[in-house]
Amino acid sequence: MPATASRLSVFTESVIRGTTRLANLHGAINLSQGFPDFDPPEELLSALEGATRGPHHQYAVTWGAPRFREALAQKIHRFTGLTVEPDRHLVVTCGSTEAMMVAMMTACNPGDKVIIFSPFYENYAADAILSGAEPIYVPLHPPYFNYDSKELAAAFAQNPKAIIVCNPSNPTGKVFTHSELLEILHFAERHDAFIIMDEPYEHIVYDPEVHTYMCALPGAAERTITCNSLSKTYSITGWRLGYVHAAPEVITQAKKVHDFLTVGAAAPLQEAAVAGLELPDSYYTGLRDLYTAKRDIFLDYLRRTGLSFTEPQGAYYVLVDISPLGFKDDTEASEWFIKELGVAGVAGSSFFREPVKHLLRFHFAKNASTLHAAGEKLLQIRSRR
Ligand code: GLN
Repeated sequence: MPATASRLSVFTESVIRGTTRLANLHGAINLSQGFPDFDPPEELLSALEGATRGPHHQYAVTWGAPRFREALAQKIHRFTGLTVEPDRHLVVTCGSTEAMMVAMMTACNPGDKVIIFSPFYENYAADAILSGAEPIYVPLHPPYFNYDSKELAAAFAQNPKAIIVCNPSNPTGKVFTHSELLEILHFAERHDAFIIMDEPYEHIVYDPEVHTYMCALPGAAERTITCNSLSKTYSITGWRLGYVHAAPEVITQAKKVHDFLTVGAAAPLQEAAVAGLELPDSYYTGLRDLYTAKRDIFLDYLRRTGLSFTEPQGAYYVLVDISPLGFKDDTEASEWFIKELGVAGVAGSSFFREPVKHLLRFHFAKNASTLHAAGEKLLQIRSRR
């Protein structure tokens, strides 16, 4: 039998998705893979019903249905102030997952280096390997997960083709400040590198933090490739709608990559999602308030367990230090939490380049009743200490 490609031997299946399968098998409350257990806004549900009877059942335009791209351009303009031309600045993709792959294949030649902050969302390493790029890891230091400017300078000194920045950050909950983003931009300008932003949590940022759009910083537009999705903002992770927003010269190339990877995102879902993109500003403040309440419920339980963690400034994940519980490593802990406690979290090591094995990542994108049920179970670990 022929051997499969050797590049596949250097990364594993997604630990996040694997943990979800194990959680389902054991009937555990799944706080591992980040997705809501509540419905999208009513406007989206009724638009979806309407879309099923419309003329939307064949391929949409490869780089995105015109009505969807128009609404997307207006929504991006509303929050960034940038002029976005639907035909020149956007490619619609199957989630930010495809957007990231498109961005990497558009920006990097095989052998190019790409800076990734560690801990990182696990797809980035696989994206780098699949596109032939070589990651250079720069640590984000706990407890606030800030980077060290000297370490970033040393990484840029290796002349990377791009840097990947997830803001707000999965899994740390860090929100990059305006001055940090400016510094990253200056490094990128000095070394003529692309900045690949992954921003699915742009609207899930907790007071007093604010989201700064890299693409809107002075001079950033020509080198920023923003990847984003509608999954988290509108609670539609299963719709798989995302996009790349970048300069026209980049988008011309990105369109080709996307076309040959997937042809296009689901046409009826693009049609229905327009209703989400047209929601008023009050929807986004409501979303922030909703997630602030969820964060408060969940972190209160975590505090009562006595375990330490870093309060997220944005996104809906929290890394919890499970070292007082005496497990061999985080994989053993994750299995024990699923099988014995009935709550699933992701082994933190899957996000780190460094040998960090004392963290579990939980998410709190769940109904209050789910969070209370999970919280009560988590309190039982007090007897293990
Ligand atoms: N972004 C989510 C997480 O980190 C879901 C990832 C996925 O499975 N696409 O859990």
